[in-house]
Amino acid sequence: MARVILKRERKRRLEQGSPWVFRTEVDRVDGEIRPGDVVEVVNHQGHFLAKGYVNPASQIFVRVLTYNREEPIDREWAGRRVDAALAWRKRFLPGVRSCRLIYGEADFLPGLIVDRFGDVLVVQVLSLGMERLWAMIRDVLVDRLRPAGILLRNDVPVREKEGLPLGVQLAYGEVPPLVEVEENGLTFLVDVWKGQKTGYFFDQRENRLAIAPLVEGAEVLDCFSHTGAFAVHALRFGARSVLCVDQSAEALRLAEENVARNGFGGRAQFLCANAFDQLRALVEEGRKFDVVILDPPAFAKSRQALPGAIRGYKEINLRGMKLVREGGFLVTASCSWHMHRDLFLDTLTDAAVDAKKILRLVELRGAAKDHPVIHGSEESNYLKFAILEVRDRG
Ligand code: SAH
Repeated sequence: MARVILKRERKRRLEQGSPWVFRTEVDRVDGEIRPGDVVEVVNHQGHFLAKGYVNPASQIFVRVLTYNREEPIDREWAGRRVDAALAWRKRFLPGVRSCRLIYGEADFLPGLIVDRFGDVLVVQVLSLGMERLWAMIRDVLVDRLRPAGILLRNDVPVREKEGLPLGVQLAYGEVPPLVEVEENGLTFLVDVWKGQKTGYFFDQRENRLAIAPLVEGAEVLDCFSHTGAFAVHALRFGARSVLCVDQSAEALRLAEENVARNGFGGRAQFLCANAFDQLRALVEEGRKFDVVILDPPAFAKSRQALPGAIRGYKEINLRGMKLVREGGFLVTASCSWHMHRDLFLDTLTDAAVDAKKILRLVELRGAAKDHPVIHGSEESNYLKFAILEVRDRG
């Protein structure tokens, strides 16, 4: 097995829990490597640190698969990893049949996402090394869960960076066009074939419950509503009405369906529009809401995109604050990991200054427990979710 020797001068990122070895941290490689091979990572003194798969074409040179030198990367390894991921969900989400089952690096299966929708599994294989391990892991998933079907949603642009083809493919059994999930006692239809990412965003499960104390009798704006998960929760917790805004007509069609199937038809409106334009228009019309929810996609997909992203977050939050009635609430999220928690909070402060608002922080939250966070790995700690009371200043 080839050995990747790290530089003497480097941050001890791997020792801190980061599952990635960047090319800039590598001093040299002993032996032949082919893309996707399992290699040993050692420090500058030759001490073993980890084993992982290598991709010489990527900035992320090695992704860690095990910290145990004696552990072969074989079917038993895959079984232990899947069992550990299942045990985590069983402990922290007892009885939940729809959730993120495997969250890549944070479940020590780098480059693999598995979302479970009852007896259907939807999978993203995000790296070359994982592509080579996938068949083995699929067999373990079939053995442990006996799913009706497994769908590969490999239509993800990051695969191109790894030199992998894009596409959607049935990997096992059968998968219907729409699947139903239950969340917090509510039901949602999910388009696992064509919907965004794997079709549903499980990371906000617990945050959707956190809006309960805000929305009784409220007029709510659910901006970036996607298939209506926040809207349906708001209605369940007693909101008088919800306005859903999203630029995807397909997502809004499902949102409407989801509102109706939970028994809240007639209490929601759906607007297919660009949120930036729509927020501006609502401010100009003088509209007010008791609660404004902003759950945008990641504006900063890379560090280079960060300045533009900060402007974007500031703009939507500034407008969102202006739309909140005195003493109402802004519920605002960012899922860009480049936008670190403090930077996000500072951006909210900037927006409040310009909007002439005073904010009181009710809660600052992260992702749901099926999205574990590896301490020391910023990438896995991506979701920020703030609940703020909004008051006028002058
Ligand atoms: N709140 C949702 C998830 C939002 S995902 C939930 O709980 O499920 C982000 C959503 O923003 C997607 O549905 C996408 O269609 C929408 N979107 C992205 N850019 C947008 C824009 N500029 N204007 C309006 N919607 C946008």
